Amino acid sequence: MPPKTCTFDCVYCQLGKTVNKVSKPEDVRIPVAAKKVVADLRRALKNDPSKSIDYVTFSGFGEPTLNLQLGDMVDQVKSLVSSKPVAVLTNASLVHRKDVRANLAQCLAVDYKRGCKSNSPHHVPVWFFL
Ligand code: SF4
Repeated sequence: MPPKTCTFDCVYCQLGKTVNKVSKPEDVRIPVAAKKVVADLRRALKNDPSKSIDYVTFSGFGEPTLNLQLGDMVDQVKSLVSSKPVAVLTNASLVHRKDVRANLAQCLAVDYKRGCKSNSPHHVPVWFFL
């Protein structure tokens, strides 16, 4: 696993402490490549055909919108599992950026967790179905 990279460091995070706390995608030194994600999914589908998949969800190991290849990954994943919806779990800290919004627009649903920044364990997930 790569070190956890996020714009926040929530006390309740299931991934533990944020190792790389950054404020923008350009601060991520080595983002995961789209081709690696797609290759991993392709390998997984060989062993478990997509009939057993309900959703493909991007959560990353931290904040997935920090990777500006996210839109490309979503496009390629959709071509692999065309009949399945694709979603992204995000803390929405970067949705002010046009490029991030464009990447998220490729998905069926975006889970925007309000309250992450306040470290509230009672954050309110809000699903946007696009
Ligand atoms: S925003 Fe999400 S991934 Fe980032 S620290 Fe908070 S709970 Fe963890």
